[in-house]
Amino acid sequence: MIEEAIEQYQQHSQAKLKLKAVLFDMDGVLFDSMPNHTLSWYQAISELGIECSRDEFYLFEGATGAYTINRLFNINYGRDASEEEKEQIYKRKTMFFNALPKAKPMPFAFDILEKVKQAGLIPVLVTGSGQKSLIDRLNIHFPGVFASDKMVTAFDVIQGKPHPEPYLKGLSKCGIKPYEAIVIENAPLGVKSAFSAGIFTIAVNTGPIDDQILLDAGANYLFDSIEQLYLRWDQFSHLISS
Ligand code: CA
Repeated sequence: MIEEAIEQYQQHSQAKLKLKAVLFDMDGVLFDSMPNHTLSWYQAISELGIECSRDEFYLFEGATGAYTINRLFNINYGRDASEEEKEQIYKRKTMFFNALPKAKPMPFAFDILEKVKQAGLIPVLVTGSGQKSLIDRLNIHFPGVFASDKMVTAFDVIQGKPHPEPYLKGLSKCGIKPYEAIVIENAPLGVKSAFSAGIFTIAVNTGPIDDQILLDAGANYLFDSIEQLYLRWDQFSHLISS
């Protein structure tokens, strides 16, 4: 029950939710880009002779490329990756990624952003991505939604997700407190980041991982798709804006 999730959050944070901004993750929330990311990671890592499955890269989602490569080196070789190795492997991953067809917007992403805007709430983008084409693509598919000073990308933070810094930065860009926002996330490390920042976190499980992984990471509530979030939005926003 969403009412219970709100009640639990408010008890835990000792503050009443009063919505002013909605912080959106990008890959797997606004764009259906995770299949491309996991495939290109799989290609770049398996060519090193490291045995891996495509699905395990969903668990690294939201982290920087360097973090992912380093973790895999630790697991498989028992050592950190060198700067050169990180750079080389990430270059290969990017090459495979760029060879794939461009990801489409997630179904109902445009609709939920419209609802947020119509309600007078501030849409904020909080992504670990540092792609230069990012802003162009956002402007094409979601024109005029995100103000340029309401975006947190890889260039704005020292610590990426799962550290709380990206979402804390999102709050500070609006000059608001954690209880004045909610986060929409699809990845365990992203949920962890938002939870650590003290923000009510809605997980949208748009990939193949178990719901329980997202709930264990700290999600306050979970939907199976952006469509489900869209369909329940009015009921939900009514509960926390009154
Ligand atoms: Ca994501």
